[in-house]
Amino acid sequence: MNRSFTKAYQKHKPSGFCFHVKCLDKYSEPVLFTKTREEENVADIFVDMLEKEIDQVWSSEVKETIFSEDDRAKFEKARECWICQKLFEESDYKVRDHCHFSG
Ligand SMILES: [Zn+2]
Repeated sequence: MNRSFTKAYQKHKPSGFCFHVKCLDKYSEPVLFTKTREEENVADIFVDMLEKEIDQVWSSEVKETIFSEDDRAKFEKARECWICQKLFEESDYKVRDHCHFSG
């Protein structure tokens, strides 16, 4: 059967958006945008504003990890996670840190 029963009868265009980046429990304001001129491309503006917000998170929150030679030696020797004792495997490989809620 080559017939479609979907009939497009309206076209919705976004008129604005709101998002809130929640990161490391630091308080941040939601980002709001409402279209004021017809030529504004809401999807492009959404992507630009989201990128700016993420750049701010990266520049303000990410610090270089303090990883001494002793830490490196322990890391290379480790066969299991020191917190959850789960063994490292090929499909669950060794990383410096992993989330104990999501894995
Ligand atoms: Zn673990």
